[in-house]
Amino acid sequence: MPDLPPIREVIQRHNLAASKALGQNFLLDEQLLARIAALPGDLTGQQVLEVGPGPGGLTRALLRSGARVTAIEMDRRCMPALAELGEAFPGQLTVIEGDALKLDHAALMQGAPFHVLSNLPYNVGTALFVRWLSGEAWPPLWQSLTLMFQREVADRIVADAGDDAYGRLAVLAQWRAEVRLAMKVHRSAFTPPPKVMSAVVHVTPAAMPEGVSARMLERLTEAAFGQRRKMLRQSLKGVPGALEALATLGIDETRRAETVSVAEFVAVAKTLTA
Ligand code: SAM
Repeated sequence: MPDLPPIREVIQRHNLAASKALGQNFLLDEQLLARIAALPGDLTGQQVLEVGPGPGGLTRALLRSGARVTAIEMDRRCMPALAELGEAFPGQLTVIEGDALKLDHAALMQGAPFHVLSNLPYNVGTALFVRWLSGEAWPPLWQSLTLMFQREVADRIVADAGDDAYGRLAVLAQWRAEVRLAMKVHRSAFTPPPKVMSAVVHVTPAAMPEGVSARMLERLTEAAFGQRRKMLRQSLKGVPGALEALATLGIDETRRAETVSVAEFVAVAKTLTA
């Protein structure tokens, strides 16, 4: 393994003062980074997409695990530090300078299966997460998502019906994927520390229920959770056939969206898709 200087030193040498505008909170603890990189399992020879490598803390943990990493970073200042890392692991790292929200990830990975690992600013992370989980094509090209979120967002992703955090994000994440809160990360692990706690969520694709259109499920959850405190008979009024589907399935229309399980949403969407 190449002998690398501590990340703190890399940050200082390349003058990478954290930019608030880019949501930069760096992880410096190599043990913690190695534990995050281990979450998808053995990555030897596997393709990994890392979004937002920054000075390369998680990147080096991934390279050490034997992964072949494609990293998308917006901050030009990080390029020299990442180039150094690429030289230390010849042929293992490709760095793309750009905005991950604007790039076609499947094309970047040349249509081959890949794992995603990322520690992103909250808004970018959520937008990418929704994108990775949307669309009719399933299973996706990604084999796992290992993503750092602020704790409150992680809770929303893994929530069960009836939990305060349960909503659209939970249904979108869980109807055809396995999700788990894999690691809680204290705010003090970051430099500079953010205001809130974080957590790593691990997601793997599961079988997609047959006969359900993703678009229909999205439409249904949007309507139901758009007015989450209202009864279903009110919130789903605008979705043609939804109230009849509730009746057919024996789902009480006086319930609220937050009590409707993922399986029940899937059943309604299936009835409407047919
Ligand atoms: N991976 C590093 C770590 O764990 O220490 C850095 C994490 S920092 C929270 C987020 C990184 O994402 C920053 O380097 C930032 O420049 C980058 N970033 C922010 N928005 C981005 C975007 N839309 N596309 C690509 N990178 C982005």
